[in-house]
Amino acid sequence: MGFLAGKRALIVGVATDRSIAWGIAQAMQREGAELAFSYANDRLKERVEPLAASVGSRLTMPLDVTSDEQIDAAFAQLQREWGHLDALVHAVAYAPREALTGGFVDSTSREASRIAHDVSSYSLTALARASRPLMQDRAGALLTLTYLGAIRSIPNYNVMGLAKASLEANVRFLAADLGPLGIRVNGISAGPVKTLAAAGITGFRRMLNRVAEVAPLRRNVTLENVGNAAAFLCSDLAAGITGEILYVDSGFSTVGMSFPAEAED
Ligand code: NAP
Repeated sequence: MGFLAGKRALIVGVATDRSIAWGIAQAMQREGAELAFSYANDRLKERVEPLAASVGSRLTMPLDVTSDEQIDAAFAQLQREWGHLDALVHAVAYAPREALTGGFVDSTSREASRIAHDVSSYSLTALARASRPLMQDRAGALLTLTYLGAIRSIPNYNVMGLAKASLEANVRFLAADLGPLGIRVNGISAGPVKTLAAAGITGFRRMLNRVAEVAPLRRNVTLENVGNAAAFLCSDLAAGITGEILYVDSGFSTVGMSFPAEAED
């Protein structure tokens, strides 16, 4: 029996079979969770429904996280179909493409900043509020995805770094507020993974190469690496962990200096 047997989870953020949310869904399904999936728009519905079916999920729903009406409708559907929720995975981020290239000062407009924070950080608060009545007294778990750009400057990541810093603060404030109800809130700071969202960041390939060159494990993380850590954090095995950011990044964030082999003298 898997360590998520009997748990019901909503996965928000599957776009393709390379999405981090899909890696998480596969690990959670393997460990026995029953899954529901949301899709951001009709274009993604056609991609998400077959993926959901492949892991035995019958429950899919539209959910643009910038729409309070769609959030209300999605959670009303969960209430009707399941009556409760044990875990929610928030794997959603967006900033206008022009904000993810070039110098930070020139590419960070007020509008790009508003959009990035709304989609990538505020949405976690909104989904936590909607989850609360379904998770109360059930040892519920909320999990989000963040990146090193929250705490270090990264070329071209720009306003998304600010949004991720906000998201990580969001994890701590939500953990404090919802902890007394038995609901845990955590984040995974994943190393770079080649996905649709990542393709929007100028120079993303160089980020992958850099990690493979200097991270202690000398390789990039896989969807399975992130998925397994996420399944653990959403399970009762992590019952004592909340308000935490867990790095799943081949150790890259821990390195102060590294001399790649070819540069050794
Ligand atoms: P992805 O496959 O492109 O997933 C991003 C998802 O966010 C997509 O399903 C996207 O839908 C969705 N989304 C965007 N705006 C939305 C909205 N308004 N409402 C609902 N959904 C919306 O990329 P990913 O890399 O797996 O990203 C998942 C999470 O991991 C993000 O928070 C990302 O920042 C984080 N992360 C990624 C990496 C990496 O290197 N890939 C590293 C660390 C953290 P659309 O396709 O329709 O926009």
